[in-house]
Amino acid sequence: LEPLYSFMIRTRIPGGVASAGQWAILDELATTHANNTLKLTTRQAFQLHGVIKRKLKETMQQINESLLDSIAACGDVNRNVMCTTNEALSPLVPAAYQLAKDISAHLLPKTSAYHEIWLDKKLLVSGKEDEEPIYGKTYLPRKFKIAIAIPPYNDTDIFSNDLGLIAIGDKDKLEGFNVAIGGGLGMSFSEPGTYPRLGDVIGYVPYDKAIAVIEEVVKLQRDYGNRENRRKARLKYTMDSIGPEKFKALLEKRLGYTLDKTRKFKFKSNGDFFGWKKAKSGKWFLGLYIEHGRVKDEPEYRLKTGLRKIADLNKCDFRLTGNQGLVLGAIKEEDKKEIAALLKEYNIWPKENISGARQHAIACVALNTCAMAFAEAERYLPSLMEKIELILAQCNLTHDDLLIRMTGCPNGCGRPFLGEIGLVGRSLGKYNMYLGAGFAGDRLNTLYKQTLGEQEILEELKVLLPRYAQERNDGERFGDFVVRAGIVKPEKEINFIVPF
Ligand code: SF4
Repeated sequence: LEPLYSFMIRTRIPGGVASAGQWAILDELATTHANNTLKLTTRQAFQLHGVIKRKLKETMQQINESLLDSIAACGDVNRNVMCTTNEALSPLVPAAYQLAKDISAHLLPKTSAYHEIWLDKKLLVSGKEDEEPIYGKTYLPRKFKIAIAIPPYNDTDIFSNDLGLIAIGDKDKLEGFNVAIGGGLGMSFSEPGTYPRLGDVIGYVPYDKAIAVIEEVVKLQRDYGNRENRRKARLKYTMDSIGPEKFKALLEKRLGYTLDKTRKFKFKSNGDFFGWKKAKSGKWFLGLYIEHGRVKDEPEYRLKTGLRKIADLNKCDFRLTGNQGLVLGAIKEEDKKEIAALLKEYNIWPKENISGARQHAIACVALNTCAMAFAEAERYLPSLMEKIELILAQCNLTHDDLLIRMTGCPNGCGRPFLGEIGLVGRSLGKYNMYLGAGFAGDRLNTLYKQTLGEQEILEELKVLLPRYAQERNDGERFGDFVVRAGIVKPEKEINFIVPF
């Protein structure tokens, strides 16, 4: 007998936009081929967990039939391209989303291996190698992440990406992007010299030149990235070893022109928008809270069944956010009532009594799904939040937004180093506490205390949160307060190689 191997499958879905039909197929696969849940990830992708080995190929084939795939959802290539896709937030969304799809297609590996292995396509080559014009024979030294954000919303946390595009528009027209390069949050406790880093803003590129600039940055990382030590192989280390200014000069030499001066922009938050909002097109969009992106049924909260009923209506699409949330999108005025009734019937929306901290909290999967995890995150944070909410209530902070992010290891999937409070697993039940990130994803947090258990975390918060409630300035965010009050030293904010 073979051991009961089980697998995780992650989809590639640029911008995280799925049709109702695609949602229904993934929901069905989650029920019949996985652990009866869907996970919405921090890169706007779906994950199916617990797919057993003998169902793996069939699951991949059915995902393919839904016109989705898992090509480049992992590996040393460009990963899922993120983009703000709640059209009610900005008229620039459709053009930005189109670019996200174009980037994803442009940087897709050309190998036919995926189709040969999973889709039963017969061998297309015999002895002849696939041509990879961008990646070459050896691909990239490590994964590469790209995101697009549309100010004032930084809900894709673009400064945590290898390459971030900040959309610049003139009224309703998307004109181009400020480009930020060299972001990445992963680090290793056991490897000195690894660190989280925010991307540097290197200038502005018009819309029609964006893909050419992206391709050259990817190729520079291919050619200059560290291939001896995987832990120091991301673009951020390449940039720091070469020097950000020199890296920019190398890029411009390859492009044959210099990037324009950075255009003015301002982000106000990196969280999601919740609730109904009408887009200029007249269609409705609803931002939903999904705790840590886990779509499952509970006795009093049948989220999975309710969303499936809505998918079966085929009157909206499903847009995953970069914060493990979900937007029901493109809803016609005449369909809104029917969808709202189902949301109410299944207790999905409106959702009363969720604190501002809980709405914004992110947790990676960690134990027992992720082999890298030292500690719990998704399975534990909800119960810790209940205890934190008691403290928040005593300080009258229940309805204040607060970014709490927990991961099972410092690899950074839940972007913990951009949490106003970041909890990073060190060992079972123990976390390093980081404080002081910017609310708009524009400043990393700082290590505050190490290897804290639950009681110690709560003891710290029993001091910090009342102080914040009493001493904060008007509108001051918790992350800014702990820096101003000298509780932690501030980490460097975003570096503008080319300022406004
Ligand atoms: Fe990522 Fe680490 Fe969380 Fe695993 S435990 S999902 S590697 S952050």
